[in-house]
Amino acid sequence: MSESVFSERERIIAALSYPRSLMEQEVTRRQCPEHHRYNDRVEACRECLYILECQARSEQLAEASLQAASGSRLHTLLQLGMEYVSYQPECYDHRPEECACDHCGWLRRTRALLAGD
Ligand SMILES: [Zn+2]
Repeated sequence: MSESVFSERERIIAALSYPRSLMEQEVTRRQCPEHHRYNDRVEACRECLYILECQARSEQLAEASLQAASGSRLHTLLQLGMEYVSYQPECYDHRPEECACDHCGWLRRTRALLAGD
């Protein structure tokens, strides 16, 4: 048996859907005149508190961008995704090595993925 049906690339793209969905929840929690699509020509977007989440979600982490991204770019995005997940306020005092919550479980799996396991 081959070790995986999916390439590393596909697994990274799949893993990125987790931070993307967290960003999505964060961003769509508020009313947005731009319908949660970051637009750099709109002043409300440039002043928005959720600019990073929205920009990442609608541009960098969009499915089409991920499909077009290079392998090293995907690694960088996954590292950013890990930072984003580990800084979630509800994970403040978690120990990701042993915690059973979704965030920490994702962090463990993703760390293993980046390590090539
Ligand atoms: Zn946890």
